[in-house]
Amino acid sequence: MNERFHAMLIEKVGEKPHARLAELSLDDLPDHDVLVQITCSSLNYKDGLAISGRSAIARKLPMVAGIDLAGIVVESRSPEWQTGDRAIVNGWGLSETEWGGYSQFQRLKPEWLTRQPGGFTPHEAMAIGTAGYTAALCVNALEERGGLTPQKGEVLVTGAGGGVGSVAVSLLAAKGYSVVASTGRASTHEYLAELGASAVIDRAELSGSVRPLQKERWAGVIDTVGSTTLANAIAQTIYGGTVTACGLAGGPDLPATVFPHILRSVALLGIDSVYAPHTLRDRAWATLDMYLDRGALAKIMSVHAMEELATLADQIVAGEIRGRVVIQITQE
Ligand code: NDP
Repeated sequence: MNERFHAMLIEKVGEKPHARLAELSLDDLPDHDVLVQITCSSLNYKDGLAISGRSAIARKLPMVAGIDLAGIVVESRSPEWQTGDRAIVNGWGLSETEWGGYSQFQRLKPEWLTRQPGGFTPHEAMAIGTAGYTAALCVNALEERGGLTPQKGEVLVTGAGGGVGSVAVSLLAAKGYSVVASTGRASTHEYLAELGASAVIDRAELSGSVRPLQKERWAGVIDTVGSTTLANAIAQTIYGGTVTACGLAGGPDLPATVFPHILRSVALLGIDSVYAPHTLRDRAWATLDMYLDRGALAKIMSVHAMEELATLADQIVAGEIRGRVVIQITQE
């Protein structure tokens, strides 16, 4: 096989990273054991940062961008994977230290691949993508590590109109939680109600100055925003409640005190999707398979071409993307 194909390549131009659609050959790919023809990928906040050059996501250049992929194995030197197997990859350093999913072909380490989750098509798996699978990691952490149940009270989701937030709202609602969605966009209120939010609040309510202990409201929190939003959410969490932190759409700082933790036993759980072990990944995909309404998934996803990536990258970093974007890489 000596095909030439397209990939979104980030190179150094002057002192800055610059992304462009480039033509590559199989000889250009890393020497990993499994060659995958990629059907589709997805757009995540981190992809937006990498392609727009707003943050140095790629730690070595040149780099093929894209932290997610779904595809079919076309060659394998690993006994675990055979030609024709369907697989997905989320994270594992793709687009940071390893070449990623915005490429018609990619060579990957066998241990990065997860079998195509049973109930989902490749497009659905990428509509979920890292953002949706992270939402499931957060939901599972609230329940398994925080002991959260619907009877304990309301759950707050911040950045609710985004990818992680949309899937989190949908999953929690399907599990019977009373979900309060925080968003900065009035245009998403109806959409969030359709996903199952029982109430929607303006994100301005959470972004002001932080008093260390506020009126107790949230039994659980899924925060994708960080900064004052996360600090206010912690300060409003009820005694014994649990907060998961996975994002920094509003900033990486955390202007908080220890008071909610030492006076109200509030737990703060950090969530990483990139190097999460397979046991957690499998449980997250099982949660998605069981609780993510396929109709809701269809509502939150849109499909775009690789040529649109530069524009989409600017939009997601500006907080203008609603729900999840699937990137079509090759036609099956
Ligand atoms: P999106 O861009 O899809 O969503 C982020 C949402 O945050 C926006 O839609 C917006 O929601 C809100 N937002 C944006 N800017 C601000 C701001 N300045 N202040 C307050 N709210 C803001 O991104 P994702 O959902 O894909 O990712 C969300 C975060 O989670 C990102 O920081 C991402 O890097 C992180 N992440 C972390 C992972 C991990 O492994 N820890 C994995 C996946 C994502 P609205 O308009 O509704 O207010």
